[in-house]
Amino acid sequence: MNGLMMDRPLLISSIARHADRFHHEREIVSVTVDDPLHRTSWGTVIGRARQLANALGRLGLKQGDRVATLAWNDHRHLEIYYAVSGAGFVCHTINPRLFPEQLIFILNHAEDRWLFIDPLFMPLLEKLAAQVTGLEGVVVLTDEAHMPATNLENVHCYESFIAAEKSDYEWPDLDENAASALCYTSGTTGDPKGVLYSHRSTLLHAYAVLAPDVMGLSCRDSVLPVVPLFHVNAWGVPYAAAMCGAKLVLPGPKMADGEVLYRLMDSEDVNLALGVPTVWLALLQYTEKAGKRLDKLERTIIGGAAVPRMMIEAFRDRHGVEVRQGWGMTEMSPVGTVNTLKAGMELLSPEEKLDIGVKAGRGLFGCELRVMDDEGRELPWDGKSYGALQVRGPWVCSDYFKLEGNSESHTADGWFGTGDVAIIDAEGFVTITDRTKDVIKSGGEWISSIELENVIMSHPSVASAAVIGIAHEKWGERPLLVVVRKENANPGKQELLEFFNDKVVSWWIPNDVAFIDELPLTATGKIKKLDLRKQFADYRFPD
Ligand code: AMP
Repeated sequence: MNGLMMDRPLLISSIARHADRFHHEREIVSVTVDDPLHRTSWGTVIGRARQLANALGRLGLKQGDRVATLAWNDHRHLEIYYAVSGAGFVCHTINPRLFPEQLIFILNHAEDRWLFIDPLFMPLLEKLAAQVTGLEGVVVLTDEAHMPATNLENVHCYESFIAAEKSDYEWPDLDENAASALCYTSGTTGDPKGVLYSHRSTLLHAYAVLAPDVMGLSCRDSVLPVVPLFHVNAWGVPYAAAMCGAKLVLPGPKMADGEVLYRLMDSEDVNLALGVPTVWLALLQYTEKAGKRLDKLERTIIGGAAVPRMMIEAFRDRHGVEVRQGWGMTEMSPVGTVNTLKAGMELLSPEEKLDIGVKAGRGLFGCELRVMDDEGRELPWDGKSYGALQVRGPWVCSDYFKLEGNSESHTADGWFGTGDVAIIDAEGFVTITDRTKDVIKSGGEWISSIELENVIMSHPSVASAAVIGIAHEKWGERPLLVVVRKENANPGKQELLEFFNDKVVSWWIPNDVAFIDELPLTATGKIKKLDLRKQFADYRFPD
């Protein structure tokens, strides 16, 4: 017997309707190329999204066609999110920091028909355009006064593109399983792969991240996503914020500018901010130098890479800010775990709390986790057994776009292999020890590069660091510590290696240290270990 409940589809347009009705006046503040501080509201953004949906309706697009964006976080990009998905097309957000070959591959593979682009990226597009086959038109995200000169054809100005359109628009009734958005993985090995989200997966994920122990979002929050709208839909914030009516503060092209971020947080009463560790490293360095304190910020969600202990400490001790570490991936919409203390843990000492805080967090309801050994047996949650982390849930991909059945990403019993190596403890807290391909195997035993990096990041002279495996005659592989020193600091190799004493088991301590000026970063700000390994391909440990 079925329940007698309405079968209303979970659609992105329903979020738009809700935000417009209930949170019409709630502010959205953006930095754009044409306006250093643009103020609008959820009501206006959704109204303009309806205008844009009308404009899209004239382009001859079919349901499911892809419309791409190459843009930073601002109100126009948000309007595209709602217009494109809400009207039944697929919003394909592209990371502009990818290599040109990857951008060409992605635009062609996705068969994007129209592209919405920030004026800043026009020179990039002009270089690629000849090799992009399916693009029919381009819309530049600005007003007429700031339109860049270009020799490309069929280029429109966003403000003029929507100006004459009515703000009445009947969002179509779609199947909740229809594709809504597309995001490619960064593809450190092989071609980038497309993850195709549905309306249903997006809404369920957004509900999940709203929860108190996840992002804990409410209409009283002012939220600064420093995570780009092209990085896994800014971790679901554009949807979750509209659901609850949070204020959004969008930093546009100023994502990496510590001073602007600080100013925005202060002037816009930001109490929740989200981003990858490298972003916060820049902000913490700015506040330290400028002698500022983040008075209004209450908590920050940091994920996308392991969060160093010193970062959690710095936020807590210097700024009174709670850090919640999260883990997830493009294939998971992206959130799988978030770190908040369980009942009773508030009585732990600050150090013990930090020991928990450096973990990736606990699985949220809706994301099942398991850790498997090499023989495919499930490992116990004992805080020491490590193996391949697999996940399952309604916002985890079931396959990759146009690779259906060919990607070998899933197990026969329907779990997704994350490519991460993890330990889960008895309380359900996950520790990510490495990417499978970054694992260092010394004498047949695994060494966690992430844990070593975490330790050394607390050294006062270290600006950033990475640990990679280097071939070793006796042990197979041994860790090499690669360090970027802080300005005016000059720590010796011995001093850095001794810093690991009593913090990790002695056989984990790296065999040597190499100093470099800058670590190679991926397009989403993570350390590019593949490039680092290439850079040190000829390195040999001293005898
Ligand atoms: P992406 O799909 O580009 O967001 O990358 C996802 C990958 O980032 C994961 O599979 C992890 O390897 C890594 N990652 C994300 N969050 C964390 C975290 N908290 N700790 C360690 N690694 C992380």
